[in-house]
Amino acid sequence: MFSKEIEKFITDKNYPSFEPKAVFFDMDGVLYDSMKSHASAWVRAMNESGLPFTEQDGYLNEGRTGASTIDGVFVQIYGRNSTEDEKQAIYSLKSNYFEANGKTETIPYALELLRKIQSQNIEIYLVTGSGQTTLLQGLEDHFPGVFVKEKMVTAFDVKNGKPHPEPYLMALKKSKLKPWEVIVVENAPLGVESATMAGLLTLAVNTGPLAPEVLSDSGASIVFSGMKELYEKWDKIITN
Ligand code: MG
Repeated sequence: MFSKEIEKFITDKNYPSFEPKAVFFDMDGVLYDSMKSHASAWVRAMNESGLPFTEQDGYLNEGRTGASTIDGVFVQIYGRNSTEDEKQAIYSLKSNYFEANGKTETIPYALELLRKIQSQNIEIYLVTGSGQTTLLQGLEDHFPGVFVKEKMVTAFDVKNGKPHPEPYLMALKKSKLKPWEVIVVENAPLGVESATMAGLLTLAVNTGPLAPEVLSDSGASIVFSGMKELYEKWDKIITN
């Protein structure tokens, strides 16, 4: 069903084959329905700090680390990066507003897909730009036995967040796999960019308000309407 898309990826990259042995999962918007809450928390924190920021900006910046998001606005408004103190002040405001927004639900069919992948003896990694400790600490409660610390790359591990390829390259290095042995599941344009620049086959799940073309234009090989569709068609990707 997807052999055409996968064939194109292998040919473009000049890879010898496609043999998935690990799946690298993004977190926000893929495992957790957290993007609306992140976006509104960013708007409040930035605006209260005298900086312009809209919900749309929140979605477009998804995947960046907090520090990089703040620097982006500072460069635009003041022509310079933020200081450490400024970064900390704004990020802690943002984190507090995010927490105050209440409990974050998981994305429907995320757990089912993870379980299916486990049953296929394929490894699972987490690659996120997030430093939101409640979400990271909650992974074991929401997805028991799926994520282990040695198979995670978070905001605390990288110097350059998405769209830089560093997070996905770091996960690839940890996995000791070849780039044609990995599948990435992403929901955000900058995340897709990061994964494709790392040379990885990237599946996009469109769980937010963006048009699907935004995700294919960023480099996603296949765009799904959500996790339910990806779950239902998963076996056709594995046995393409
Ligand atoms: Mg995401």
